[in-house]
Amino acid sequence: MIDQETIQRIMDAAHIEEVVGQFVSLKKRGANHIGCCPFHNEKTPSFYVSPSKGIFKCFGCGEAGDVVKFLMKHEHYTYPEALRWLAEKYHIEIQEEEMTDEQRERQTERDSLFHVSEFAQKYFADLLYNNEMGKAVGLSYFHHRGLSDETIKRFGLGYCLEEWSNFTDHALANGYSLPVLEKTGLTIVKEDTGKRYDRFRGRVMFPIYSISGRVLGFSGRILSSEKQAAKYVNSPDSDIYNKSRILYGLYQARTAIAKANKCYLVEGNVDVISMHQSGVENTVASCGTSLTVEQIRLIKRYTPNVTVLYDGDKAGIHAALRAVDMLFAEGMHVRLVLFPDGEDPDSYAQKYGSTALQEFLVSHEDNFVLYKTRVLLDEVKDDPIRRAGLLSETARTIALVTDLIERQEYIRQCSYLLKVSEDVLTHEVAKAINLNRERAISSKNEPTPAVAAQPEEQKPQEQAPLTEPTNLTSIAPPEVERHLVQLLLNHGDTMVSQTFTAEDGSTQQADYSVAQIIISDLRNDQLAFTHPLCQRIYEQCSLMLDISSHIDTSRFLNSDDSQLRSFAAGLMVDTYSVSSSWLKLKQIHIPTVEENLRQDLTDTLYTFKRLRLAQMVRSLSEQLQSADEDRQRQLLIEIKYYSDLSRKLGNALGQVIAPRFN
Ligand SMILES: [Zn+2]
Repeated sequence: MIDQETIQRIMDAAHIEEVVGQFVSLKKRGANHIGCCPFHNEKTPSFYVSPSKGIFKCFGCGEAGDVVKFLMKHEHYTYPEALRWLAEKYHIEIQEEEMTDEQRERQTERDSLFHVSEFAQKYFADLLYNNEMGKAVGLSYFHHRGLSDETIKRFGLGYCLEEWSNFTDHALANGYSLPVLEKTGLTIVKEDTGKRYDRFRGRVMFPIYSISGRVLGFSGRILSSEKQAAKYVNSPDSDIYNKSRILYGLYQARTAIAKANKCYLVEGNVDVISMHQSGVENTVASCGTSLTVEQIRLIKRYTPNVTVLYDGDKAGIHAALRAVDMLFAEGMHVRLVLFPDGEDPDSYAQKYGSTALQEFLVSHEDNFVLYKTRVLLDEVKDDPIRRAGLLSETARTIALVTDLIERQEYIRQCSYLLKVSEDVLTHEVAKAINLNRERAISSKNEPTPAVAAQPEEQKPQEQAPLTEPTNLTSIAPPEVERHLVQLLLNHGDTMVSQTFTAEDGSTQQADYSVAQIIISDLRNDQLAFTHPLCQRIYEQCSLMLDISSHIDTSRFLNSDDSQLRSFAAGLMVDTYSVSSSWLKLKQIHIPTVEENLRQDLTDTLYTFKRLRLAQMVRSLSEQLQSADEDRQRQLLIEIKYYSDLSRKLGNALGQVIAPRFN
């Protein structure tokens, strides 16, 4: 663990333009440096680095963050790895924080699991070439499957001898302890007899690597035709191995995936290896489990584009259809390739060769939604009841697509396939979207301010259901909200002197930070932002203020949520252009935000509140018409409250209520 002080020293020493400049060619433009974004393909630069703020932001793909985030994204480092890299570059000695005994013990145990796994991999790989049985059984099997020695070594393949405890005995003789061997699952100890034996005896071994190339576990395939034995056996979950968070082949595929901006998803280990050997290196498999959300997020670190490959039998198709819905729900772009009946990537490559495989993949890539619709349509035939089910099933899938243009295109094509009008399908999709949203809202148990809790306010009337994405954050926030959040992020800690009316009616003056003024003022009136990301930033700033009286913007720049990160960084980099468009809107000439911060703050707060209050009154009034008597009474009280507030606001123009913190 790196202590906080050292982290600060590293962050202070690091120059983001130097670090980014090592990977991207940058040109200076004004206060910023710009270049072509390394995270998406572009010819005209839209990637900005701001040395003064220590952040980068791409206005093309939205990627953004600070120097650590850049290294994590670009080099796929973990947080500590990125810090260590920077520490080395800027010659900063890392003070390791003292670990507690428990932490040290855990660390030691994890280390020993890693060590014994690595030891096992080396031993199994060695047997393949230097043991008679290893050569005769293991190696000849791999060669028979068409794998070259180069490929076998690249994937660290091996063989575990068909003897009860050959490996376990060898490991014990080399000083590894039985409890550790048991924890990795390499050794099984019989509870009743205490007899120990090798879990993987008589199997060819596929080591499973972490992203950084450490051996985490194994998958072993049996070669004998023993009937009771499972064809594949995998390591059990341990402190270092969690099958739902691992993709087979990702370590070998990750660079190719990022480069091709696409990931092929296949079913088995051998398919992965076979694809790699055929030159299609951007291929992974979820081994021993059906696809999980964690695995999808692993892929998403490298690319949003997934092509699912599977063989054409019925079970395969239905398994793939389920996986694809999950991929859509995670915002991935999904395509698929269907192999002819009885073929899989491995057999296809063996039969027709690498070039034919590559060509097949390109020419048979299919649009998933259309494919799914065709498959289901074929099964349903003309049964009217099942057809109705098919319509809502198709709508459900389309509703998962987050890209609006893509979604509209699917509606157009599927309504043609299903022989229904676009309106009918559009309506079904809208229903499915609303259902998803309700589920999302009810599963989110966050306390929301009174105002934000009114769903009518969150959905502006002028938006038809379909033009409103499931993902509300992709709508641009209103200018005034944007500007207010900008003031929070860029000037939150700046002190300004404020005149306010004290409780006894006298006028007083005091210094407050910009964040204190904004947050106490909005809290006082219980006002919330309409834009979800603005509201999240506001809530987090509010929390920071309560805890430390300081706005730590690095929390946003380092957030795991890429949308939030991108949004916050955009507001921080883009001060000039936003301010100018905002000033135009206000029709007030202010040279720069900094020079007239106080005036700007007062104006913005005033405008924000005026607009929000007007919106609320309007929305409540609209509800009046359809409300029952009880609800009407309630609504009238609320309308009166907000109208009064609005009137008071008009009277007190230019004044700010004294910040109150309890
Ligand atoms: Zn970009």
